[in-house]
Amino acid sequence: MTQTCPSQSALTSEVVTLKPKMLLHACCAPCSSSVVERLQDDYDLTIFYYNPNIHPEKEYRIRRDELVRWCDELNLPLMVSDYDPQSWHDYIAGYEQEPERGERCTLCYQMRLERTARQAVAGGFDVFSTVLSISPHKDALRINRLGNQVAERFGSVFYQADFKKKGGFQRSLELSREWGFYRQNYCGCCYSLAESEQRRQQRRHPGGETD
Ligand code: SF4
Repeated sequence: MTQTCPSQSALTSEVVTLKPKMLLHACCAPCSSSVVERLQDDYDLTIFYYNPNIHPEKEYRIRRDELVRWCDELNLPLMVSDYDPQSWHDYIAGYEQEPERGERCTLCYQMRLERTARQAVAGGFDVFSTVLSISPHKDALRINRLGNQVAERFGSVFYQADFKKKGGFQRSLELSREWGFYRQNYCGCCYSLAESEQRRQQRRHPGGETD
C-alpha cells in the first residue's frame, strides 16, 4: 500500500500561477484608477510615480499624496521618485512654447517612459507601461510608439494600450467620484497651467478684457 505524506499531498495539489510583474507609470490617482482595475487580474502591478513635469511643487505633492492614499487602501505597491523639476526643464529645453499636445509633450512622455523603463529593468519587472493614454487629451498612438522605442533601447517590454477606450475614461470618472479623488484642471507643467488659466479667463470674458 502506498501512503502519501500530508505535506506532499498539499504541495502537489496546489497550482501556483505567477503573474507577470508590471511597473506601471502613474501621473495621478484619477488617471490610474480604471487602468489598475483593468490590469490587476492579469499582472502583478507596482505603481511608479515619476512626474518631474508637475508644477508647482505643492501640486506635485497633492497628486502624489492622493496616489499614496489610494495605493495604501488597495494594498498596491507604490514607488515614488524624487521631485526634480530642473531635469524636466533641461529635457524639454527649446520646446517650452510649443502648444499642448505638441513636441514639448512628446518629450515629456518620453522622459517619463525612459525613467520607468530604466526602473523596470533595474527592478526585474517583466513589462512596463503608463496610464497616460487614459486622457482624452493624450495621443495613445504617440505614447505607444515612444513606449516601444524606449523598451527596445532599454531591453524591456512595453505594454501598449489606449486605456481611454472600451469605456476606460468614463470608468475613471466613476471611480474618481467613488473614491472622492482630487481632480486637477490642468495637465501638469507650468505651461499647461498658464494655458488653462488663459482658457479660464477667455471663458469669463469672451473676446474681451482679462483680469
Ligand atoms: S502639457 Fe502635460 S504632457 Fe505636455 S509638457 Fe506639459 S505636463 Fe507634459
